[in-house]
Amino acid sequence: MSASSPTPTASKVLSLNNIEVVYDYVSLAIKGVSLDVPQGGMVALLGANGAGKSTTLKAISGLLVAERGEVRRGEVQFHDRNIGTLSPQQRVQLGIAHVLEGRRVFEHLTPEENLIAASAIRSRADMARNKEMVYSYFPRLHERRSSAAGYLSGGEQQMLAIGRALMTQPKLLMLDEPSLGLAPFLVAEIFQIISRINREEGLSVLLVEQNAVAALEIVSHGYLIESGRVVMHDTAEALKSNPDSGVLSRRRKGKEFPRHQALQPAETLADLITTSE
Ligand code: ATP
Repeated sequence: MSASSPTPTASKVLSLNNIEVVYDYVSLAIKGVSLDVPQGGMVALLGANGAGKSTTLKAISGLLVAERGEVRRGEVQFHDRNIGTLSPQQRVQLGIAHVLEGRRVFEHLTPEENLIAASAIRSRADMARNKEMVYSYFPRLHERRSSAAGYLSGGEQQMLAIGRALMTQPKLLMLDEPSLGLAPFLVAEIFQIISRINREEGLSVLLVEQNAVAALEIVSHGYLIESGRVVMHDTAEALKSNPDSGVLSRRRKGKEFPRHQALQPAETLADLITTSE
């Protein structure tokens, strides 16, 4: 599939139309990215360090402002509405939840208090219902609900960060590298839960990952970003077995592949991104 046109879908919750992002007025981090998340779908944004994944999520949630960044060209559309001028708070109210890289829970508060703190924009009844829903997906948070969040394991903190986002009743959940620093069995557990939430709640998900192997197991489509540009997008199945060494060759640390040489089975797109650090 070409890198220039986004994934065709009937109904989209999110569309990025050729966006450019600059930091400090001059530093061009995103160079014309187009991307779609279908209603109720799960899409991955994959790429190595510094490719522009987090910047893309911040362009959607509005958090670029805090880092002297801005969307200089193109449009961010949420349910066909251009949200470029909305504040981060207004975007949360519309239904966009962004779980930042590195989890960032309130360490001195308990998990229960973390969840309550995230519900300021919802009624008491909503809060109680949402809390129950979060605890049903993450029973471990319920068990640890009275300990300080700073004492939770990395996996539990990631669950809490996702739980906090769910408390805002999002329509689109954006996760920035939820697998970071977690053991593979925990990554598998958390990804399975995200997958269940997507299926059972109809929540659309945009998943940013360097761990393409894990991400491509649960999404339907993936976009590969490199140096601020989408260089490939396709179904997860197609990406998992992509033999296009021309696009992949530059990505492998210390190794070059001839441009048109097919990769060995183990050297799929997923393997290459994961080993790119
Ligand atoms: P990682 O996986 O390491 O988080 P990433 O794919 O999320 O990488 P970004 O963090 O979006 O990449 O960075 C994309 C580019 O933008 C990089 O060149 C980075 O140095 C630059 N960048 C990111 N944040 C800022 C900032 N606050 N100010 C200036 N440049 C930034």
